[in-house]
Amino acid sequence: MKVAVLPGDGIGPEIVAEALKVLSVLDLKLELEQADVGGSAYESSGHPLPEATARLAQQADAVLFGAVGDWKYDNLERSLRPEQAILGLRKTLGLYANFRPAICYPELTHASSLKPELIGGLDILIIRELTGDIYFGQPKGRRTAVDGPFIGAEEGFDTMRYTRPEIERIMHTAFKAAEKRSQRVTSVDKSNVLETSQLWRDVATEIGKAYPHVALDHMYVDNAAMQLVKEPKKFDVLVTGNMFGDILSDEAAMLTGSIGMLPSASLNAKNQGLYEPSHGSAPDIAGKGLANPLATILSAAMMLRFSLNMPAQADRIERAVQKVLASGLRTPDIYSEGTQRVGTVQMGDAVVAALK
Ligand code: NAD
Repeated sequence: MKVAVLPGDGIGPEIVAEALKVLSVLDLKLELEQADVGGSAYESSGHPLPEATARLAQQADAVLFGAVGDWKYDNLERSLRPEQAILGLRKTLGLYANFRPAICYPELTHASSLKPELIGGLDILIIRELTGDIYFGQPKGRRTAVDGPFIGAEEGFDTMRYTRPEIERIMHTAFKAAEKRSQRVTSVDKSNVLETSQLWRDVATEIGKAYPHVALDHMYVDNAAMQLVKEPKKFDVLVTGNMFGDILSDEAAMLTGSIGMLPSASLNAKNQGLYEPSHGSAPDIAGKGLANPLATILSAAMMLRFSLNMPAQADRIERAVQKVLASGLRTPDIYSEGTQRVGTVQMGDAVVAALK
């Protein structure tokens, strides 16, 4: 099995180093090959996703990704900004299904801004379609308005669109995931206003018939945003389009209060995947040894489960992380009184020790 390791920028290299340390004690016989991506690739070769990096990702069974981005690149033209590397990898690999678990570990209930009884034990999975929708629909651009109240004014426009096969495949992904959990799927759309969403809802209902043991319900996106705050535990698997998923998955992540704890996976039809923490490159704490490596370590566990077919080893890593949390070790982002504050490397070492 070959893994492309792309640490990226900011805290990326620090947290990926800890994930590699954890993988190395499992003795998995993985072939690991590292390459530049994001701002570091722009510095070394003038592009955030150099051809060699894209090729390596294509040839690998999985990509372990740190994070990209830094404010110093904010004035670069859009196509050269570090974040474009992620879009490029999604496109190159055809990664259409994004898995974002939002889990609130019992030991970290206090980190949430919600009351403990609302959030304790939260374990939901948001599945976001990643390659379609208004982010990629054509035409898009700027032009002069030819109708509406401001004829002649400059306008920006985008196109929301989904084809039936795109909706079908993400629905199969969601129903299959629900079969392994509590047999419930909530499909989120805005079908009271949008034609794209009406198709989404119709296809969800049709595909649902092939999974009679899984209960399907539909929810408008505005209601879903409210319910996530009001009663998040009523969800299990939530499936939605690219833009709604972008927003709801961040909302769900922040509910747990610990962005440094949340892994993610983006998969294609061949189960090739890109695995990365849900957070960004955190330039404010980069190089200080303060970053929480657990989201990246848990992303590596997802990689073992989904792309490398090593579920037992994935379980081992997840259990080790729980053990470390139970022992009271905390990086600054999840620290609370009565626990022991540690840095990035010590946290990685503790997971390694728990595995041994
Ligand atoms: P961010 O997620 O990097 O940071 C938000 C806050 O969370 C910061 O205070 C940061 O210190 C903290 N934080 C993030 N990860 C942490 C960790 N593992 N441990 C402890 N604290 C952590 O978001 P931002 O500040 O909005 O963006 C910074 C840069 O990251 C930008 O250039 C942005 O474009 C980029 N970004 C990249 C990705 C990605 O690579 N997938 C995702 C989001 C943002």
